[in-house]
Amino acid sequence: MSSILQVRNVNKSFAGLKALNNVELSVEEGAVHAIIGPNGAGKSTLLNCFVGRLTPDTGTVDFNGTSLLGKAPYEINQAGVVRVFQTPEIFGDLSLLENVMIPTLARRDGAFKLNPWRRVDSLAEVRDRSEQLLGDVNLLDKRGMIANSLSRGDKRRLELAMCLVQDPKLLLLDEPTAGMSRADTNKTIDLLKQIGERGITKIVIEHDMHVVFSLAHTISVLAQGTVIAEGAPDQIKGDPRVQEAYLGGAHL
Ligand code: ADP
Ligand code: MG
Repeated sequence: MSSILQVRNVNKSFAGLKALNNVELSVEEGAVHAIIGPNGAGKSTLLNCFVGRLTPDTGTVDFNGTSLLGKAPYEINQAGVVRVFQTPEIFGDLSLLENVMIPTLARRDGAFKLNPWRRVDSLAEVRDRSEQLLGDVNLLDKRGMIANSLSRGDKRRLELAMCLVQDPKLLLLDEPTAGMSRADTNKTIDLLKQIGERGITKIVIEHDMHVVFSLAHTISVLAQGTVIAEGAPDQIKGDPRVQEAYLGGAHL
């Protein structure tokens, strides 16, 4: 197995507060890697360092052997590192199909701008591609529905389809089930498992242990800006340092 994301010695301070302290992380290609830890541990800060929203004070972040540091967010996105459920805005008054066709069209026109021959691509091809993506997230039968009428879980499916337009290699998910009902949470878990079958690597930041233990192959535990433990879910469950830091001694 090879690592797709390699984080070494990352430090980040905010006005004297050390949010990240010598973070080391290696994410295997194709894996679901969860990052857990108490509130304020630095999880979102770390993710922001991967997508170009923050620059670490020191350290390196390499994706497929190339440094992401100093790259603009759109360049990182084009390289295949995509943050889910943050950027895509659903167009509430449009149908599901239209929602997916918009980024698909944008991608076609952006990618093929310099190739006049590709301009003959028909709208039908864009529609086919969009329907295929809706099928990937089990929403094909709802393609004519208005997006606003979807449940929260189905909206997440739609957002994910809009992200998949970009053909991501690494998906970053910051608390993908926050605020969801248990039913929608379970649907989202199934969806993420399904997407996993396509071989896309995922980093999931999550509070909900049910989600973490359902999905993750590897778990890194962040506490006060430092990775204090890393391993398979079963190892992490039994690790006393984790119980101490994360749950104040309560049992996972
Ligand atoms: P988590 O996502 O694990 O809850 P964060 O990464 O959001 O934690 O925050 C880590 C620490 O850094 C917290 O103490 C938070 O208050 C601080 N922090 C995060 N972002 C900023 C910022 N932009 N400016 C100042 N402090 C910040
Ligand atoms: Mg956070």
